[in-house]
Amino acid sequence: DARIEGFDPELAQAIADERRRQEDHVELIASENYASPRVLEAQGSVLTNKYAEGYPGKRYYGGCEYVDVAERLALERVKRLFGADYANVQPHSGSQANQAVYLALLQPGDTILGMSLAHGGHLTHGAKVNISGKLFHAVQYGVNDQGLIDYDEVERLALEHKPKMVVAGFSAYSQVIDWARFRAIADKIGAYLFVDMAHVAGLVAAGAYPSPLPHAHVVTSTTHKTLRGPRGGLIVASRAAMGAAAEEIEKKLQSIVFPGIQGGPLMHVIAAKAVAFKEALEPEFTAYQQQVVKNAQAMAETMIARGYKVVSGGTQNHLMLVDLIGKPLTGKDAEAALGRAHITVNKNAVPNDPQKPFVTSGLRIGTPAVTTRGYKEPDCVALANWICDVLDHPNDDNVIAGVRDNVTKQCAQFPVYG
Ligand code: PLP
Repeated sequence: DARIEGFDPELAQAIADERRRQEDHVELIASENYASPRVLEAQGSVLTNKYAEGYPGKRYYGGCEYVDVAERLALERVKRLFGADYANVQPHSGSQANQAVYLALLQPGDTILGMSLAHGGHLTHGAKVNISGKLFHAVQYGVNDQGLIDYDEVERLALEHKPKMVVAGFSAYSQVIDWARFRAIADKIGAYLFVDMAHVAGLVAAGAYPSPLPHAHVVTSTTHKTLRGPRGGLIVASRAAMGAAAEEIEKKLQSIVFPGIQGGPLMHVIAAKAVAFKEALEPEFTAYQQQVVKNAQAMAETMIARGYKVVSGGTQNHLMLVDLIGKPLTGKDAEAALGRAHITVNKNAVPNDPQKPFVTSGLRIGTPAVTTRGYKEPDCVALANWICDVLDHPNDDNVIAGVRDNVTKQCAQFPVYG
């Protein structure tokens, strides 16, 4: 049988179940989204069969004339999308894009200054358990008591530790980052500024969040979060921001991605990136990203009105962090209770969290996925109220069953793939 269903019923069932879960559960994980059928089509295409080590026009394999078209389209579009002069669309993931930047521009043992995981940074920004924290001497900054990045503290740490690279970007921060201030700090000590815009790349592309491109020497992103493409990574940069070293930086980035840390690029994924970038260049994408932010703000306001603390007091992007310190449930309990109501979120450490990372005292909530489904502010207000109902009564089966009914009905109104 040519189809998975006939050949491998067990796997076919898992895929069908996941598809159904994506339709009838509400997805609030801030790093997730629903890729379009076109993106899925490209990712499931015959381009998966092709080896294409090297770059367009300079491959180590024959027969690359058509995958070269796909990669050139992806490159040209991503440059247009972000106003970049340089782009590399080959990184297999966000983590590999970040690894490429470190290994291209630093030596093992060099100092980096990034945002700590516990305060909203990413593992790859210098966490001890990640290669970025093992290979390099990582100094970490965080947020102040208001939940905001303390730029004076970042500057103090930079002057004290003289990192070769300052890393800005986040996985859980709901405010606007002052990229120019970060660059000014990096310039004071002659360091590179590296921005990982993975979470906000879609907002940046749509002008709904300030672009780091004019400020950072190098910018990386994932392609599957707000950007709504296939799972993957990318690197972009502007020559003006790289300055005199532009050519040298570009050369190093090119050779570290291949042959430095990767082999054959995933041409089917690169084709899917090309489609996603084309989608992101459409006017509807701008409207979508603006709605993502409005929806997040509507949810944050509702949760605050219901007596829940949102770190930093609100949101200017697609996500918020709900601080449960002082409430009778942990992040882990909250995630589980909401899961029973078919609301998918992730537990997340909040600043000064007394709980271990696997338990935490917070929830991260994001609106990219529900906004793709078509949710507007009233739908998000209803949803936020149901979340609060569950958090107010995490052990009440009747409350949870009632919310699950409401969520199921709401999901049915907004089919993902139909
Ligand atoms: N950078 C940031 C800021 C992220 O939030 C993430 C993923 O959550 C990554 C990088 C890593 O991306 P990937 O999971 O594709 O390796």
